[in-house]
Amino acid sequence: MQTTKKHFKVIINYNYCKKCGICSWICPVNAIIEEEFGKPVVPDPEKCTGCLQCERMCPDFAISIKQIEQ
Ligand code: SF4
Ligand code: SF4
Repeated sequence: MQTTKKHFKVIINYNYCKKCGICSWICPVNAIIEEEFGKPVVPDPEKCTGCLQCERMCPDFAISIKQIEQ
């Protein structure tokens, strides 16, 4: 049986983000990292497993995870 990897897009709304650092701290695979001045960025979205912890824990509702249909 063939298993297909799921792919996710990490969408950060910088209008809401307060650069608190929770998302980069909580991401278990380090998909979100802090740039200069604490801005969260996702240089390698392939790392994201879609666990949704960042989306749930962001106090400003600034992150949404979308599964990408292949
Ligand atoms: S948890 Fe939310 S507010 Fe905090 S840095 Fe991440 S996106 Fe920004
Ligand atoms: S959904 Fe999970 S793996 Fe993906 S960026 Fe958020 S915390 Fe990291």
